[in-house]
Amino acid sequence: MVKLYYVCECCDGVFDEMETAGEGVAEVRALCPDCAEEMGMGSSPSRTNRFFYN
Ligand SMILES: [Zn+2]
Repeated sequence: MVKLYYVCECCDGVFDEMETAGEGVAEVRALCPDCAEEMGMGSSPSRTNRFFYN
């Protein structure tokens, strides 16, 4: 399984994680709900970059 970690770009916290098919660990930079809300974009978090580690 690939373990996906959703890491907040703003506060650097891991706010979600999930597993998908594949191998390794992946980090998805996004905004956690708290920061997204603070920035006034609560309903559409931006996912800019993906880093894959194998
Ligand atoms: Zn945050």
